[in-house]
Amino acid sequence: MYRKNAWDQLKADDREKLEKFAADYRAFLDNGKTERECVKGAVKEAEEHGFVSLDTVIKEGRTLKSGDKVYCAWMKKSFMAFVIGEKPLDSGMNILGAHIDSPRIDVKQNPLYEDEEIGYLDTHYYGGIKKYQWVALPLALHGVVVKKDGSTVEVAIGEKSEDPVFYISDLLIHLAQDQMRKTASEVIEGETLNLIIGSEPAKAEEEGKEKDRVKKALLAILKENYGMEEEDFLSAELEVVPAGASREVGFDRSLIAGYGHDDRVCAYPSLRAVEDFEGVPERTLCAILTDKEEIGSVGATGMNSHFFENVVSELCYAVGLKEEIAVRRTLRNSSMLSSDVSAGFDPNFASVFEKKNAALVGHGVCFNKFTGSRGKSGSNDANPEFVAEVRRIMDDNGVDFQTAELGKVDVGGGGTIAYMCAKYGMNVIDAGIAVLSMHAPWELVSKADLWEAYKCYLAFLKDAGKA
Ligand code: MN
Ligand code: MN
Repeated sequence: MYRKNAWDQLKADDREKLEKFAADYRAFLDNGKTERECVKGAVKEAEEHGFVSLDTVIKEGRTLKSGDKVYCAWMKKSFMAFVIGEKPLDSGMNILGAHIDSPRIDVKQNPLYEDEEIGYLDTHYYGGIKKYQWVALPLALHGVVVKKDGSTVEVAIGEKSEDPVFYISDLLIHLAQDQMRKTASEVIEGETLNLIIGSEPAKAEEEGKEKDRVKKALLAILKENYGMEEEDFLSAELEVVPAGASREVGFDRSLIAGYGHDDRVCAYPSLRAVEDFEGVPERTLCAILTDKEEIGSVGATGMNSHFFENVVSELCYAVGLKEEIAVRRTLRNSSMLSSDVSAGFDPNFASVFEKKNAALVGHGVCFNKFTGSRGKSGSNDANPEFVAEVRRIMDDNGVDFQTAELGKVDVGGGGTIAYMCAKYGMNVIDAGIAVLSMHAPWELVSKADLWEAYKCYLAFLKDAGKA
């Protein structure tokens, strides 16, 4: 089958909109390097677009009616936005879901030490990373320190040009003959990911007698800048991420290199599509930006939690559907695009892909009927009736799309949040954007694909569930 290049299809008057959207996305990406920062950005955007907190609706016992816009920031790490439709809520919603956590390196709970008068933070990586990619590059530190009194200190160091950055060292090539023979998974081991955070010792009170003076000096800086003691690391959530902003790539600036495209490149256009939807929708619209996808969607902020169901239940109550059955019907009758990045076909590594069924960069939004690995194991396999509906919506709205699966059969695979929503009996299909160097510190996407994803989400919100 011939597959169109999305740049060829771009309408002349859409060029400016595409560039504006790409700039907006890059701002979201650069300000949202952790799930918490993304939620903060989403709340700000939603409030600017007239969305009201669901907490306020519940507290004031408000009744929601069609056209009302509400959001919910779940434990500050997952986010949902809704626009109430004209049809009854229990006739189903049109849902866009994506995740806002990204692979990274987390700081351990007891992390601070010094070795040969270099100060370090010990770490434990989060999600699937090639550890050797995360050494010898500038790193930033983001997160929160929650103190015993409940107060929270926010940390974001390494993004402004005047900020310091942090660093994990690699072995010099001159002494690396043994290292170079190791397999890539062992070249840098997890316990070697130690973050250098300083080296100037505190003045010795008695020369040659005092130990750990670098650690002492670092603790003094932490105390002064953040009011924190060493014990406060116990209740901190600090994430080490690549330092610096996303960049345009290529002479033609057609691509974007950035940290955390997986999966903010789907999360941002999903959120924007719900915010930008014009008029009152027929069906209720929903965007879910969830946490913990990279480690199996576990925990109270992951999609396996009942937080979404609980929030839908509150929503049903607020529109006057007060029986439990309404929650079941709302979920069962919903349609969903579960969006996550796809493995972009990489000509440098062509042998792991089956080209007819690979996601091509610059060829539009990508649908995966199924994900999973080795015999579709663990996959949500979308119903052909629903795939046909989605095809029709894309064609009716002039959206460029392609279909793909993750690599060759038997080579590997992956999963998304699709099957967790499918368990309610709703129609779900995986959608997303082709990414090169997925899970690397800097990933690569096409602006054309970002634009088509946004168009796809708007079309799906407008037309899904009509039949
Ligand atoms: Mn993902
Ligand atoms: Mn991922």
